[in-house]
Amino acid sequence: AHRKAKMAERRLRLAIDAMPQGVVFLDPDGRYILWNQRYSEIYTKSADLFVPGARMQDTLRIGVERGDYPEAAGREEEWIAERLAKMQNPGEPHEQVLSDGRWIMIEERRLEDGSIIGLRVDVTEMKAKEESFRLLFQNNPIPMFLYDEETNRIAAANDSACEHYGYRAADLLGMPIQELHAADTMRLGATSPRHGPQDGSWKHRKADGSQIEVAVYSRSMMHEGRPSILLAAIDITERRRSEARLVHMARHDALTNLPNRVLFRERVEAILKRDSEAPFAILLFDLDEFKGVNDTLGHSIGDKLLQHVARRIQQCLPQGALAARLGGDEFAIILDRPDVEEVVTPLVERIVQDVRLPFDIEGHQILIGASVGISVAPRDGSDPDRLLKNADLALYAAKGRGRGVHQFFEPSMDRHLQERRNLEFELRGAISRGELCVHYQPLVTLETGKIAGCEALVRWTHPKRGQIPPGVFIPVAEDTGLIAAIGQFVLRQACQDAVLWPSEAKVAVNLSPIQFKSCNVLETVLQALAASGLPPHRLELEITEALLLEKDSSVLSTLNSLRALGVGLSMDDFGTGYSSLSYLRNFPFTKIKIDQSFVRDLRASANSQAIVQAILSLGASFGMKVIAEGVEHAEDAAYLSALGCQEGQGYYFSKPKPAAEIFPEAYQGQAVARGGAAVTPINDSAERIRTDGVKPPLDRRSARA
Ligand code: C2E
Ligand code: MG
Ligand code: MG
Repeated sequence: AHRKAKMAERRLRLAIDAMPQGVVFLDPDGRYILWNQRYSEIYTKSADLFVPGARMQDTLRIGVERGDYPEAAGREEEWIAERLAKMQNPGEPHEQVLSDGRWIMIEERRLEDGSIIGLRVDVTEMKAKEESFRLLFQNNPIPMFLYDEETNRIAAANDSACEHYGYRAADLLGMPIQELHAADTMRLGATSPRHGPQDGSWKHRKADGSQIEVAVYSRSMMHEGRPSILLAAIDITERRRSEARLVHMARHDALTNLPNRVLFRERVEAILKRDSEAPFAILLFDLDEFKGVNDTLGHSIGDKLLQHVARRIQQCLPQGALAARLGGDEFAIILDRPDVEEVVTPLVERIVQDVRLPFDIEGHQILIGASVGISVAPRDGSDPDRLLKNADLALYAAKGRGRGVHQFFEPSMDRHLQERRNLEFELRGAISRGELCVHYQPLVTLETGKIAGCEALVRWTHPKRGQIPPGVFIPVAEDTGLIAAIGQFVLRQACQDAVLWPSEAKVAVNLSPIQFKSCNVLETVLQALAASGLPPHRLELEITEALLLEKDSSVLSTLNSLRALGVGLSMDDFGTGYSSLSYLRNFPFTKIKIDQSFVRDLRASANSQAIVQAILSLGASFGMKVIAEGVEHAEDAAYLSALGCQEGQGYYFSKPKPAAEIFPEAYQGQAVARGGAAVTPINDSAERIRTDGVKPPLDRRSARA
């Protein structure tokens, strides 16, 4: 029997030694009976005390005295008593820390005979993990919740969660997780984050009832022995707001907050997609003379004006209308309603009328008008590009008719555009084919009737279409950049011709503002002078105010350099633009050309007379010569002369013609003038300029014809 008992004990020992946990058996008095290898390893420090028959409470006491149990420090007796009590009435497992920092989980059971079986597990590693999780959880700046997967109640919430949601930690503990959800997330039926919104973005509710949008991340984990869910909630309310702001900004104009071109187009596309036969109108608005406001009063007033205009337009909008700012001073309206044909005209008239009322901006009374082009679908097109283009063509036509005009698209406008394209195409080769030439119109000294010089005016003889007026092709050349080559050609030709003329005769050449932008005017002029040998003081350049509108200091410095060379500068078409006195003061002009419109009705209109007189006295006080354009009648020449105007130009004296017809002596022996200009033989003395004062015009007949 003894052998049998020995065998059993050995088998038991083998069995418990094979267990991964530490195992100990105590008799009902708490004396050691048996323990396994692992048990001794766990308590390395106290292993010497484990002797069969020794009482655990004694080994505990020795261990406490030696400081093996840091938790007992300072309350030794109490600790021992608690420990023994746990052993007498075993319940939940508990943990114990040893002096080497390891954590041991203790589980004890009292068996029927009163003996005790104890299990020990080294949980140091798990504790470390738990601790690092605790730190990660508690100190995380992202609000985090841990809740029980079965009860859905919150088991832990970190500081950030409490702070962000505005709860005290105690309020959150035990609270059903669903209570965080805002109403509409609840309505989705999504009570568990497992079944939340597809994109993981939830609406949560804070303690104060306010709503936030959160991106939720969750994962399952064990927490204190229970399956739980860790939930991190990142507040993306602000991000969403700024995303929404960005989306808004991409489709709206920052200045007026009206929809921009992108949104405008999208709307047009949406209407067409809905019904490709839908009747709707596109109205394009362009402010008249807005550039002038910007240039004279500054951009900040210009911006405010645009905002005011936007508001006025919006106030006029009926149902089914959307206003947009397409850029600059360009506004647009989509009028989308079945009765569009009836309402569009009254609407345009109302807006044009409203915009025309004075604006009061920072003490400035500003008057501005709007021109409008209109295209109506499906009549004028059934795709956005065509409708916009046709509205634009109509706008262009409206502008051509004057200010404050509205114009519906007409198919002929498209033909005009087509013609313009053809013109551009043909103009490209015109110089090299020798189709361009330069004619000259005398500038006559009124007092003596002598030719003071000539204005060079470009002429285009198209092989099939004949003469094409510069008023038609110069704008095309300006739009396409061809003006650079044309301008250079005219300048060279004019200098070459003028060299042949009597030395007192100047030559005036028109320069387009575009030339100042796209090419080096100074260099071109220098080259033309050098190539011809013309003295700079015999060259005069005519420029219009459009050039000076650009607040560009390089223009001023170019003009100053030209002036320093001795080249004369005329302000062309004076009186039609801003006629700004500051231009006369700030730019080195030597001559003012009174626009022909004032000369034309000089005798009929007292206003024109007043303007002409004003310009003359301006010229006198600035020390500039004044020349009147468009003099067609002897009476006008006499009147201007009497007022003190030095020079005149017009059909009364001579139409523009080839140089050889004006200065035949200079071209004697040259059968054909350069530049392809065909010279008609001059045999009629009446075709020659008179040099004996302002008397019968030489080509009066043709002027009258
Ligand atoms: P502009 O510089 O004001 O030239 C005067 C225009 O008035 C010329 O028209 C001339 O033929 C016309 N004219 C002259 N006397 C009379 C008159 O008594 N009655 C009337 N009704 N008209 C008169 P044109 O040659 O058709 O030129 C028109 C415009 O085209 C010019 O106006 C000028 O701005 C531009 N232009 C002409 N040649 C050139 C050029 O070589 N370069 C540039 N950049 N522009 C040019
Ligand atoms: Mg001119
Ligand atoms: Mg002119």
